[in-house]
Amino acid sequence: MSVQTVLGPIRREDMGVTTAHEHIFIELTAFFEERPLRDIPDPATRPVTMDVLGQLARDPYALRDNLRFDDFETQKRELLYFARAGGRTIVDATTIGIGRDPERLRRMSRETGLHIVMGAGYYVGSTHSPEVRASTPEQLAANMVRELNEGMDGTDVRAGIIGEIGVSEVFDESERNVLRGAAIAQRETGAPIHVHINPWTVNGLEAARILIDAGVSPDRVCIDHIDMENRVDYIEKLLDMGCYVEFDNFGKESYIDREARRPGYSNFNYDTARVELLKHLIDTGRGNKILLSCDVCLKTLLRTYGGWGYDHILVNVLPMMDEAGIKASDIDRLLIDNPANFFDK
Ligand SMILES: [Zn+2]
Repeated sequence: MSVQTVLGPIRREDMGVTTAHEHIFIELTAFFEERPLRDIPDPATRPVTMDVLGQLARDPYALRDNLRFDDFETQKRELLYFARAGGRTIVDATTIGIGRDPERLRRMSRETGLHIVMGAGYYVGSTHSPEVRASTPEQLAANMVRELNEGMDGTDVRAGIIGEIGVSEVFDESERNVLRGAAIAQRETGAPIHVHINPWTVNGLEAARILIDAGVSPDRVCIDHIDMENRVDYIEKLLDMGCYVEFDNFGKESYIDREARRPGYSNFNYDTARVELLKHLIDTGRGNKILLSCDVCLKTLLRTYGGWGYDHILVNVLPMMDEAGIKASDIDRLLIDNPANFFDK
């Protein structure tokens, strides 16, 4: 079996150390909400600079520029840190609606030597076009199958996975429809499905149920963003259903300003707590269906802007895991074996 990358299929053994969910180029400005900020005039147009890093640590969505990666050389330099730390494969979960760019990712793969896997399908409802909203699950499935088998966005670059398929804080009917389409495409192609869930909700339970009821095997489903709060019950329920879960917010540690908090946007967990939870899951025999990543999607997460970068898990979290008593063989399972099992179709 094999995994489809932007440069063609590779064998599962060639994936190596894999980060299961990142964004190399992104335009997440659907999440930007203009509101007056202390000491930051013009949040819609002002670039990310040193003097706003503190405020962005407490409200990362406050500046539109923080939600956009578009400079090729910056992103290439950032990815080379991941390669230097031993990373081999990066799964880019950027779907339609947030700046997916197959040609640039193909060039990026050639220039960095990294395997890059891309995703078919649609992000959260607020980014769905009127055509998507008006489509049946069968029509949406046909589009996703074309992206997997022929190419995306008018290119011959093929997707290797479905997703991240978006689910918002308030689950909307168009999102349910896209999930039903993803289920049909999954059954036709065998490709695994990444499901973005608003990180402060437990909507993963309903999303998983929709997919499983539509005939998708639970081990082809990964529920993302489960690690923004310590919710062991939620995670164990998803694992009991047979799904994968993804700890994908390593490096996102924030106390969110009270004025900025709202349903669907609240405090971020800390890496130490994430590692403790991982240790608990591994110790209780639940380490086989866990994927790891940093879901880098904000400028402030890049090294260029004072962040820890795509190599954060390899450089900073592995020692933390070791200190917490997680064995090297379990770390290999999380970084190599589990992704190979999930992404191989
Ligand atoms: Zn996501």
